[in-house]
Amino acid sequence: TIFKEGLTKTRVALVEKVEELITRRKKIDEEFYEELEEILIGADVGVNTVMTLIDELRAEVKKRKIEQAAELQPILSEKLIGLLKGEQNPGLQMAKSGITVILFVGVNGVGKTTTIGKLAHKFKSEGKSVMMAAGDTFRAAAIEQLEVWGERVGVDVIKQQSGSDPAAVMFDAVQAAKQRGVDVLLCDTAGRLQNKTNLMEELNKIFRVIQREIPDAPHEVLLVLDATTGQNALSQAKLFGEKSGVTGLVLTKLDGTAKGGIVIAIRNELNLPVKLVGLGEKMTDLQEFDSEQFVHALFS
Ligand code: GDP
Repeated sequence: TIFKEGLTKTRVALVEKVEELITRRKKIDEEFYEELEEILIGADVGVNTVMTLIDELRAEVKKRKIEQAAELQPILSEKLIGLLKGEQNPGLQMAKSGITVILFVGVNGVGKTTTIGKLAHKFKSEGKSVMMAAGDTFRAAAIEQLEVWGERVGVDVIKQQSGSDPAAVMFDAVQAAKQRGVDVLLCDTAGRLQNKTNLMEELNKIFRVIQREIPDAPHEVLLVLDATTGQNALSQAKLFGEKSGVTGLVLTKLDGTAKGGIVIAIRNELNLPVKLVGLGEKMTDLQEFDSEQFVHALFS
């Protein structure tokens, strides 16, 4: 139900508009396809994905000799489900034994800190011990914000003063996590996109430091994307995904946007699983992404 509530805006922008179109136009003709295209693109399903989808619909309509728009609706939902399903969400990769290290990357403001806080809460409620590392040493506010989340969920935050070397923070954090025998270490990183090369170098250095201490870590590198930015999120995913060893995506702020179609575009255009979705600002507003639940929340 949190899915259903969170996706209200997307449901209105996508599914209800399609329903309105079908009732109004009744017949499947060129104008119908044009309007359908507009609705799908408007919900950020992505131009490439929409083109594929419309082509498939045309083929299906021809094959089944369909004329009434109403008959198209189940076919459309079927196709959308098909696009979303692909392979199922494999879930978060955890260490076979010892500490699981999860690294969070993404530009400022997308919801990294919030996601780390929410995930810390989730792990804690499963009985796991958690620690956080304040690897965004570039902004003092980022460190403070992580500490606020640390207090809120009752998790220690390993930090140094702002301006220090993030790799040094990670080194400290891994040492502390080992000493205290924690189950999960959640690591924040800086998100300055204007300085891309340095950012990638910084990430590489962080990788090396972590791997030296825990050879199979990091177990996940999650790229956090803001769903309200629509196609921008897709470009960020393409940009980061190529270079920084990203293993999965977190899509935040799905609750605040009519652009939830971006999930479909991401699934169709990238070879990266959406592992988690943010559906609000509260501690509990984080869900494992499940494509079936997602489509169900939209279409029912
Ligand atoms: P960071 O700069 O990437 O660490 O981003 P923050 O974690 O500070 O988040 C930026 C803003 O987005 C904050 O005001 C958060 O409360 C808000 N936010 C994060 N995730 C969600 C979400 O899933 N839904 C909503 N509505 N707001 C969110």
